[in-house]
Amino acid sequence: MAEFTMELNDEQKEVRDWLHGFAADVIRPAAAEWDEREETPWPVIQEAAKVGIYSLDFYAQQYFDPTGLGIPMAMEELFWGDAGIALSIVGTGLAAVGVLANGTEEQIGTWIPQMYGDASDVKVAAFCSSEPDAGSDVASLRTRAVYDEAKDEWVLNGTKTWATNGGIANVHVVVAAVDTELGSKGHASFIVPPGTPGLAQGQKFKKHGIRASHTAEVILDNVRIPGSCLLGGKEKLDERLARARERAKSGGERVKNAAMATFEASRPAVGAMAVGTARAAYEVALDYAKTREQFGRPIIDNQGVAFQLADMRTQIDAARLLVWRASWMAINGKPFTAAEGSMSKLYASETAKTVTAQAVQILGGNGYTREYPVERMHRDAAIYTIFEGTSEIQRLVIARTLSGMPIR
Ligand SMILES: Cc1cc2nc3c(=O)[nH]c(=O)nc-3n(C[C@H](O)[C@H](O)[C@H](O)COP(=O)(O)OP(=O)(O)OC[C@H]3O[C@@H](n4cnc5c(N)ncnc54)[C@H](O)[C@@H]3O)c2cc1C
Repeated sequence: MAEFTMELNDEQKEVRDWLHGFAADVIRPAAAEWDEREETPWPVIQEAAKVGIYSLDFYAQQYFDPTGLGIPMAMEELFWGDAGIALSIVGTGLAAVGVLANGTEEQIGTWIPQMYGDASDVKVAAFCSSEPDAGSDVASLRTRAVYDEAKDEWVLNGTKTWATNGGIANVHVVVAAVDTELGSKGHASFIVPPGTPGLAQGQKFKKHGIRASHTAEVILDNVRIPGSCLLGGKEKLDERLARARERAKSGGERVKNAAMATFEASRPAVGAMAVGTARAAYEVALDYAKTREQFGRPIIDNQGVAFQLADMRTQIDAARLLVWRASWMAINGKPFTAAEGSMSKLYASETAKTVTAQAVQILGGNGYTREYPVERMHRDAAIYTIFEGTSEIQRLVIARTLSGMPIR
């Protein structure tokens, strides 16, 4: 276990500064344009691929940082640049993690390279779990996967929604029910390879924020995929289903809502994204407050403004510490006995909303226009309390974990 320290080591500082340079020189200058265009910023993803930021290797390296701080540090810097563009860069990682977590070595080796493509021909991937009637309540998803034994193929039918990169992805990872009686225990994840007939993009959403990130419905109409596209393989699935049926028969363990139970480990990473957006808005507000003069003095000379900035910075630092604690616990195999992952996501995402709103206020009329980036940051920040489990779901997870009670 790494020795406890509050300081980044030299290697981490080097990576952080390199990422910050990319965020400042490449991402931030492109942010307003891609926000207005509401399109995937392919040229920026390509730049990220060229320098090695858009690749599995880069995330693997950060993930295996023994202090646990590699991923949160990377997320904070990229999202400091711009949340929409950064999500376009890291969104593929969601699908890649789905394969890494459940796939066989062969599946990992086959599909992850196809998710990223290469610098001359970048690709993206999508993770499709949410559905119109299954958001927070992921256990109730309706997409079905039926096995056609004669052909050794799976047939997928259903409608996914809110999929980041949905429909434009080279590879889609789809969560579907193979046994509807078992709730989330009856779910499995499937790879839908590039160009598979029956998969189509539905509505592309016009969003409030993170508009450079593509979000769309994905329609699955008799999508036939080889048996080898079931992540983890059929034998493992059959064993898992048999165990779950056994438990259900004996009236044992309650089938948990997947939204409550999964993604706990990925939540600190989302918290780090929120810290990045909050810090970006705070920095703009601090600079502005020092230079904008009213009543013959900089507005920061007023406690009413200066104290807001003091609170903003305090909350950002507190959020980062919660994110770092959870990330350190996760890499060191410490169980989240007080739902520390959810705590970090909850606090950081609420902080991003509050801090970006305060930044708009400190910039006055300018803060309300697209001439200044805090307007965009404020819109972007609203996503953090919604995706990867809303703030209410985080509170449910925390309260249930602390109390052991089935709080509703
Ligand atoms: C931009 C964007 C990108 C996304 N990307 C992806 C993606 O790549 N892949 C993917 O699978 N999904 C993705 N999502 C989906 C996201 O995870 C869901 O939107 C989220 O889980 C909430 O589900 P919902 O929108 O259906 O809201 P609902 O579940 O309908 O919730 C509505 C409101 O009710 C509250 N609520 C619900 N249940 C409870 C409860 N038990 N107690 C208290 N309050 C409750 C919620 O907190 C919320 O305030 C994305 C969403 C967005 C907006």
